[in-house]
Amino acid sequence: MRTRLDHLVTSALQQRSAVPAFTCYDFTTALAVVAAAEEAGRGVILLVAPKTAATPNGLRLIGALRGLADAAAVPVAVQLDHATDLQVMSDAVTAGADSALADGSSLPYEDNIALVLAARRLLGPDVVLEAELGGLAGDEDRAFSADQPADQAGVSVAGLTDSAQVEDFVSRTGAELLAVAVGNVHGKYKGEPQLRWDVLQDIAVRTHLPLVLHGASGIPAEELVKAAAMNVGKVNFNTELRTGVLATLQEQLPAHRSDGENLQGLLGHWNQSVGSFASTTLATLTR
Ligand SMILES: [Zn+2]
Repeated sequence: MRTRLDHLVTSALQQRSAVPAFTCYDFTTALAVVAAAEEAGRGVILLVAPKTAATPNGLRLIGALRGLADAAAVPVAVQLDHATDLQVMSDAVTAGADSALADGSSLPYEDNIALVLAARRLLGPDVVLEAELGGLAGDEDRAFSADQPADQAGVSVAGLTDSAQVEDFVSRTGAELLAVAVGNVHGKYKGEPQLRWDVLQDIAVRTHLPLVLHGASGIPAEELVKAAAMNVGKVNFNTELRTGVLATLQEQLPAHRSDGENLQGLLGHWNQSVGSFASTTLATLTR
């Protein structure tokens, strides 16, 4: 069923839970995520990468996700992730996204605020906006690990969110959610992830807005369960989902090729890989 992303997150936080958000590059993944959410009786967020939303077929995928969300038995929101281009934001919303991350985190502070305000003017009051303060290292769509060439190795932490800027940023942007950089990265972590709970705590006392943790892949479950207590109401997953799907496909491919080019059977394994990751994640974040 359709839901406002901020309402979904706020009501989860009231139960000391957080809502997982999963990047969907394709419809098979989205089907499995929504089925897992229905089975758990919990709401979920489908994320669309900006590269997806920048293509005509990607916009059709957003339309399909919209239909899937509306038909679901649990609340499902469709969000455009990490958008810097206003045209892409506008196209994604027209195609069916009900929320966007207007991401000016790599811009100077005032330009970051200006981007969120421009997105609000363009998209109107009904589209839920997430804004991001503090630089998040890494590539959202591709992940590199330590055993790869040095220039492609896992990412180090970039700039942490400056908690002294939080109140000003939140009041001036008017965003409904705030993505923070507290030692989280996109892709694979260099060594053990070290979440800065002290910084998160410092941010949480300065704003009532629900906080968003990106790059949660690789953060241990025993750390993630603590997030909702710090007002983190949305947690984004991408890399871990891809790792699971690709490992499953690699393992299953030969048998399914020799089994009469059985693509349908292979898709069943894809579905199972996503479904079990989504179920585990929903259980981890839910109280
Ligand atoms: Zn992200």
